[in-house]
Amino acid sequence: MKTTAEHYDVAVVGAGPAGCIAAKRLGQAGLKVVLVEQRQVIGSPVQCAEFVPLAISRHTAVRAGDIAQPVRGLKTFINGKLASTLRAPGYVLNRGLWAEYQARLAAAAGAAIMTATRVSGIDGKQLTLVNGAHSRALRADFILGCDGPCSVVSKKLANEAQPMCFALQYEKMLVKSLEYAEIYFDPAYYGGYAWVFPKGKTANVGVALHAAYKDKLKAALADFCRQLIGGGRIQAGAPAGATGGLIPAGGLVKNPANDHMLVAGDAAGCTHPITGAGIMNAVVSGDLAARSVLLQVSSNGSEPVARNYTRTLLAEYGTQFAIASERLLSRNQRWTDQPEEFSALIRSSWIAFPEYYRQQ
Ligand SMILES: Cc1cc2nc3c(=O)[nH]c(=O)nc-3n(C[C@H](O)[C@H](O)[C@H](O)COP(=O)(O)OP(=O)(O)OC[C@H]3O[C@@H](n4cnc5c(N)ncnc54)[C@H](O)[C@@H]3O)c2cc1C
Repeated sequence: MKTTAEHYDVAVVGAGPAGCIAAKRLGQAGLKVVLVEQRQVIGSPVQCAEFVPLAISRHTAVRAGDIAQPVRGLKTFINGKLASTLRAPGYVLNRGLWAEYQARLAAAAGAAIMTATRVSGIDGKQLTLVNGAHSRALRADFILGCDGPCSVVSKKLANEAQPMCFALQYEKMLVKSLEYAEIYFDPAYYGGYAWVFPKGKTANVGVALHAAYKDKLKAALADFCRQLIGGGRIQAGAPAGATGGLIPAGGLVKNPANDHMLVAGDAAGCTHPITGAGIMNAVVSGDLAARSVLLQVSSNGSEPVARNYTRTLLAEYGTQFAIASERLLSRNQRWTDQPEEFSALIRSSWIAFPEYYRQQ
């Protein structure tokens, strides 16, 4: 390993939506920023169902080509029956294209980008970077962890491993195009749900389950696909693509920041505990984290990141996520096969139903 370490004002670990937005904001403000990403190609492979609310365009650029399909909202099915149609316009993205563009915006703002480079360790303000057989050191005044659900930065902040759902997804041909994203609750999907998110002629068809049920994931998705084929919704045949991954389900981490390290996006537990949606929250929290760094710098330390970022993150997500986490825990504890009880349980714990909000 080299002994002289390169120096940056901020090292952003992970070039997902949180990292790209943070690097862009910091670069625009004139800081010397490096964005370190372990993947060869930013945004690839896609591990996502790609649904975002329309409002994401208020926070970052979404080009026409980044959109696979606009959707009118969300249809929720319980035990195979349509139970709610919610008008909540959004997009199903071409996330790979969109992600690559977010990284280009960060580079255009002045951030240096290192791909195929993994942060393997952090010691104070020094990071160890590994690229193939080579490793080297880099120093940064601030380390911003946007490194997803198994964040090394979050671990350094002494956060415990987050509770997770496991997800598996195929891209399947639709029989008929869909205008709404669809969510399916069934007693077989413990701790999670199944989905059909349309992308023109195809759809992302997936299932997410509580981590304890991860061994049942493949069978649950196969069964869900059989039901959709039987109901004339998707075509039989091999999927066009398969993906999956981890979805944090525990709400905000306890320690989002200290004097020089911060976490944002999935690394900070910014995924909604009930819906699993995290793209928009990654964008928002990445931006909040960057702004907190800028505030500390511009205030010569009188507005420390630990205090400022923790406060803004809690203001943005604290109450919302605390309620969702509590609902999820309670739902999982009261999980039942009994159809009427199951229906009532989902209605009280899913964001599309008035019952969810009535209890607040
Ligand atoms: C199957 C699935 C479906 C989903 N569907 C949706 C959906 O439809 N809508 C939605 O809003 N959310 C969805 N999510 C959640 C969403 O994908 C995440 O919340 C979002 O990607 C979080 O963004 P992020 O920037 O925090 O982290 P990520 O997108 O996970 O990016 C983290 C980046 O850090 C890199 N990295 C990790 N460790 C290191 C390291 N040590 N060194 C260098 N780089 C590192 C990773 O390679 C990755 O590129 C889904 C998740 C899964 C798994």
